[in-house]
Amino acid sequence: MAHEEAIREAAARLAQADGLLIAAGAGMGVDSGLPDFRGNSGFWRAYPPLGRLGLAFHEMACPATFDTDPALAWGFYGHRLALYRATRPHAGFAILHAIGERMAHGSFVFTSNVDGQFQRAGFAPSAVVECHGSIHHLQCTRPCSSATWPADDVVPDVDMDACRLRSPLPHCPRCGALARPNILMFNDGAWLAERTEEQYGRLLRWRAGLRRPAVVELGAGVDIPSVRRLAEAQGVPVIRINPREPAVRDGIALAMGALDAARALAEALNIDPNQIHSVSA
Ligand SMILES: [Zn+2]
Repeated sequence: MAHEEAIREAAARLAQADGLLIAAGAGMGVDSGLPDFRGNSGFWRAYPPLGRLGLAFHEMACPATFDTDPALAWGFYGHRLALYRATRPHAGFAILHAIGERMAHGSFVFTSNVDGQFQRAGFAPSAVVECHGSIHHLQCTRPCSSATWPADDVVPDVDMDACRLRSPLPHCPRCGALARPNILMFNDGAWLAERTEEQYGRLLRWRAGLRRPAVVELGAGVDIPSVRRLAEAQGVPVIRINPREPAVRDGIALAMGALDAARALAEALNIDPNQIHSVSA
């Protein structure tokens, strides 16, 4: 299918839909300047000290590191927390939100990203599923209860030459044990899923009210297939936006980045970019 034809077909699907499901992976954030940690080289580019230590992403992003070296674990997650707080989501987020606003039931997001960028871009927190949790929420490392709480009080000061937290480590307000992000890590038997499960329940209720859903999937790789599986399970063709791995069995493949694709869809739908405002901008 020619590129322009694919855009036109995707826009036609969006124009007749009554609700927009947005399924997003790590590729969604790269146009905002965020690292997607592709392979060790991508990870070590973002965190040179971890490259010097020879630590791979899956060795860093695991609960064991919080036990063995809390300042290092919190150096990594503290830096990411500060980075995501400081990041302004690219215009593709607001464009997708505007496309959903034209539909009777609006939009709902299912994302594997823990960065909170959809909420920053103006999506209602009640319309987002964070299937791997959120860096903006904490939990106990033990854990002593199923409670999670906002990370708002954590203001990380990180020595980036060593990737170590200089400021005080955050602790569980109930038992005093070390706190950690409420993120699903590798080899993670302690992640508390309640918050994500509540979000997912809201998605199911929203989805049940749709008669003509449209599904747009962005930047979801094949390595961690949860986002692709969710997109493909909706019983409608998937509009797959992915510059490297766009192939789709039932759907429309757009071999583009998220921002370029969102702009192209907005143009095909006659949405004026000047009418789109990011809420948090
Ligand atoms: Zn505790």
